[in-house]
Amino acid sequence: MGTFIIISVAIIVFVIIVTNTTKKSKSSLANRSIETNSTNSSRGTSSQQYVFSGSYFPQNIQRTGLQVLETLSIIGTSKALDTITGRYNFLLTIIDVLKEGSEHTRYISDIQNSIDTYKSMYYDRIPQGYELAFLLKPKEFDLIEFYCLSLYRAFKRSYEDHLEEIKFLKRQDAKVRRKEKIKELLKYTKEELANKCRNASSFNDVMTELEKLEIYLTSQTENSTFNSNSSLEILKTNIDLNSAVTTISKRQNSNKGMEFKLNPGLPFELTLLNADFQLGQKIRNILEDDNVYGGKKREIIVALFSEYNLEIKEVEEYKNKYGRVYHEKINELVKSSAVWQSLGVRDKEDLMEDFREIAVKTIYERANCNLKILFDKEPADITVDDELIKEYGFENLVTYFRFAENLDKVRVAQNDNYNRPRFEKLVELDLALRGSAIPLEEILLTLTLKELNDIANNVEKDYKRKNQAIEYIMNIPNIEEKLGAKISFRELFKLKALPEKYATINLKEVSDAWAYTYEVVDLLLDTYRSSIYTDHILKNSQYVKEYRVYCFSNDESMCPCARDLIKKPFPKSNLPKIPYHIGCNCMLRQEYEFD
Ligand SMILES: [Zn+2]
Repeated sequence: MGTFIIISVAIIVFVIIVTNTTKKSKSSLANRSIETNSTNSSRGTSSQQYVFSGSYFPQNIQRTGLQVLETLSIIGTSKALDTITGRYNFLLTIIDVLKEGSEHTRYISDIQNSIDTYKSMYYDRIPQGYELAFLLKPKEFDLIEFYCLSLYRAFKRSYEDHLEEIKFLKRQDAKVRRKEKIKELLKYTKEELANKCRNASSFNDVMTELEKLEIYLTSQTENSTFNSNSSLEILKTNIDLNSAVTTISKRQNSNKGMEFKLNPGLPFELTLLNADFQLGQKIRNILEDDNVYGGKKREIIVALFSEYNLEIKEVEEYKNKYGRVYHEKINELVKSSAVWQSLGVRDKEDLMEDFREIAVKTIYERANCNLKILFDKEPADITVDDELIKEYGFENLVTYFRFAENLDKVRVAQNDNYNRPRFEKLVELDLALRGSAIPLEEILLTLTLKELNDIANNVEKDYKRKNQAIEYIMNIPNIEEKLGAKISFRELFKLKALPEKYATINLKEVSDAWAYTYEVVDLLLDTYRSSIYTDHILKNSQYVKEYRVYCFSNDESMCPCARDLIKKPFPKSNLPKIPYHIGCNCMLRQEYEFD
């Protein structure tokens, strides 16, 4: 794992350097990169000629880059070990093309082309950090470590699946066959690891766990019930290939202060802060992607903002300008209040809410968002959630927090349920229990009285109370097996409490920080869309006599600047800039003139 992280850091540093070769830098790596460039240009008479000489074929690089992305995606997600082995062997046959090409000056732009093509072909797959790392620095990518972790992950995934299924097998011989199948998979995985991954840094850890599991499996007699939970605990190495790579750039914080224009040339330019070129490009791609929209787009961007502590320059400027106005107004209201001093804490908070409402209304350019959150909930420390996000990933935490208010509840998520994959992820992260890991009594409580009566099947009594039926059912011999036929254990989930080590994390602070991030991202999305719309309106100016500004808010909530803008028409020569400010919900409309 260690090597993997160091390589990742190197890759991220590399990306920054590649994108900054014009800037003077004292770093020796950067100097070397500049020297390489000058050597190249002095060798060829023109860069164009150099590009197509020698063995560098741009199309070959682009095609190989695409193949690598497709292959890595399969290796990262497949449960079939033989598929993974086959794909790894294929990767070995094509990686040299990238290794040889990677020194070339146009390599990065060709790889970017592969990434763009990949995204257009599989719009639901966003290239993961490790996948990009592989493409950008193929010579330094620790392929053996990657394969080692991938094999282990795949085995773990398919083992878990077999365990879930084995519980519901009725016939003893079917169970035995399934156990044999697991042993075969284990043997195959170990052999593959021993043959190809001895030099991987996590080889010893992974092998130790697999061997412990092997001993456990062998110790199980044919008739003993399979204790899946204790056997799963043996496989405790939790690997997220992506977070192993992508959390690095945040922690080294070398991007602090970097700027990236998200919509250059459009009417209202939006600037991302603290993102390097690669991350900036990623966010721009998400913004531009028409196949990701609505809440999904918002969620993906909020996750990235939280993970990398990103900001929007224009939102920061807006906050500087109007946050002061807002807070000054509140101070003024407090000072001039006759009752404030005499109030208790609760009443003060109540009155403060009124003051906030009043203060918001004094803002001339009133952004269309929850300004109270934007001005008051700005986290003092935007890294408060870093530990949690690093361990669990933002999206998983969002799911967790959404349901965490009731940890005791058993939740049913059927196969096609929107939340099903989210709960499955929580189980993987040890934040939730699934199926038969949940106490039987709690599972029975999720059933209706009718269903309980069906299961109890007690000819002498029709139960009127759930508790009585459950008590009876719990005493039926082999009840777990019988239940397997009636209910699907796989669709049952129950959250667990956060581990002890996070006891010091202030959950209120974390959720405030997220509420704040949602406002920032909404401002970004609204202003971004509005800038595209205005650009579109201005490009279609034929037959336009003049423009009018429209605002979709009603009178009550309309921004004061909009009240002024909607009053009169504007000639082409003297148009206001729309969006007028960040989070402005005004729009331009053409007034036509036909002869
Ligand atoms: Zn306005």
